[in-house]
Amino acid sequence: MGIEAALPHDSILTTQFNRVVNWARRSSVWPLPFATACCGIELMATACSRFDLSRFGAEVMRFSPRQADLLIVAGRVGIKSLPVLQRIYMQMAEPKWVISMGACASTGGVFDTYAVVQGVDQFIPVDVYVPGCPPRPEMLIEGIMAIQRIIDEDNIPKDPDGMRLPLNIALQPNYEPSAQPMDISVGAT
Ligand code: SF4
Repeated sequence: MGIEAALPHDSILTTQFNRVVNWARRSSVWPLPFATACCGIELMATACSRFDLSRFGAEVMRFSPRQADLLIVAGRVGIKSLPVLQRIYMQMAEPKWVISMGACASTGGVFDTYAVVQGVDQFIPVDVYVPGCPPRPEMLIEGIMAIQRIIDEDNIPKDPDGMRLPLNIALQPNYEPSAQPMDISVGAT
C-alpha cells in the first residue's frame, strides 16, 4: 500500500500501523473461486451456514481478480484452461495468496493424462496445499487460517528483490480413515 512506503521505517508509528493493516488484511480475505470440478462443491459448502466461512471474514467470494486477494484452485485444471488461470493470477493485486484445494489441483489426482495439469504449482506459486479428494470444508478453513496466521505475524517471506515467495504450506489430513478392508461376516449364524 502506498501509505506504508511514506512512513519512516522502524518507527513505533510504522509498527503499530502495520499491525492494523495486517489485522484488516487477515480479517477480510476475499477469495476468488477457480472451481472446475467436484472440489468446488465442497468449496460452496464451506461458505454455507453449516461451516460458515464468514466466521473467518472470508466469505465474500469475488469473481473479479481485481477485487480478490485469495485464489482458490478447486478441481482439476485442463491444459486449455491453464492460460485463463494464469491470467487471473496475474491480474490480482499484491499481496495475494493461492490455495491449491484437493488432489487434482495439487497433483492432477487420478487424472494422469496429457490433458490435465499435473499440479498447478508448476505454473503459479502456491501458498497452501489442502489435501483430500475432496477435502472437507474444515480442511479448507484450516488452509485459510494458515494464511491468516502468516499475515497476522507479518511474516511474509520475500526474496532479495522484494518479491513475495510462495509459502508452500502442506496441510496434514485432519482425520484418520479406519483400517480397510473391514471385517465382514457372510452367511447364517
Ligand atoms: S480432488 Fe477429487 S473431489 Fe477434487 S476435483 Fe479431483 S476428483 Fe474431484
